[in-house]
Amino acid sequence: KRTSEAQLLSSGNVHDLIDSVEAFLFDCDGVIWKANKLIDGVAETLEMLRSKGKKLVFVTNNSSKSRRQYVKKFQSLGISVSEDEILSSSFAAAMFLKVNNFSPEKKVYVIGEEGIVEELQLAGFTGLGGPEDAKKTADVYLDCPIQQDKSVGAVVVGLDRCINYFKLQYATLCIRENAGCLFIATNRDAVGHFTESQATPGAGCMVAAVCGSCEREPVVVGKPSTFMMDCLLKKFEFGCSRMCMVGDRLDTDILFGKSTGCKTLLVFSGVTTQSSLQDPSNDIQPDYYTAKVSDLLGLLGP
Ligand code: PLP
Ligand code: CA
Repeated sequence: KRTSEAQLLSSGNVHDLIDSVEAFLFDCDGVIWKANKLIDGVAETLEMLRSKGKKLVFVTNNSSKSRRQYVKKFQSLGISVSEDEILSSSFAAAMFLKVNNFSPEKKVYVIGEEGIVEELQLAGFTGLGGPEDAKKTADVYLDCPIQQDKSVGAVVVGLDRCINYFKLQYATLCIRENAGCLFIATNRDAVGHFTESQATPGAGCMVAAVCGSCEREPVVVGKPSTFMMDCLLKKFEFGCSRMCMVGDRLDTDILFGKSTGCKTLLVFSGVTTQSSLQDPSNDIQPDYYTAKVSDLLGLLGP
């Protein structure tokens, strides 16, 4: 049920919003960039927020890159950020294992891309699978059982553009044969946007495949799960009420912000339109909404 109506961001309330928070959490795709194109005015807006001493965090569900790779992507778009300002679902998966004292002696099977494998390695864990198993095949017709490493204690599933039957069989055996095996999903986005021309299957597709064969539900670390906020609360000495989540999606970004008690700002530069915000069937209302991130700068005035 709706608890409050969203307010249009205006020159009358933008100061209050900026003054009331110490950190801005920005979703990436649809807020900072669209696929590989920077959204107009983002660089200047981030600069203004930095000049006011605001902390910035970039919170993305796209697990294909590591934090190091995201720093490079920002650089290629002319924006300078540091690794500790990036909170990707690939990094969150590694942090989940860390905070749950997952033994570095055990291994992690990955259905996912380079970003997850790199973050696991940086956190001191051994990842198997991922890009390495891209070309493997499971010869199920020839009755050749796959040789599975018995020390796997967790399976991480994220976006994998080279998913195949071998990886599905491997993950299925790990999870089905070991009730103690952790099953972690980076995120469950139905679709992603690697190019501007069309949507492509997101990690939700790969996660659903593993759920189907394992008959188990994963722990999700990406938005709208609140796990990423646990990471942020360790980093900052202030609480959620001093943070503003800026996103383009109601059911991931705004829900994440609202369920953790952040202020929330919805922008229309990504997937959500003004009519879907105002649709009577939508019960997720941000505190504020506006066309694009750079309105934070534009509405401030001189
Ligand atoms: N997952 C995939 C595969 C994507 O391509 C994208 C966006 O491009 C996302 C998730 C969502 O990313 P974000 O949380 O930055 O909007
Ligand atoms: Ca987004």
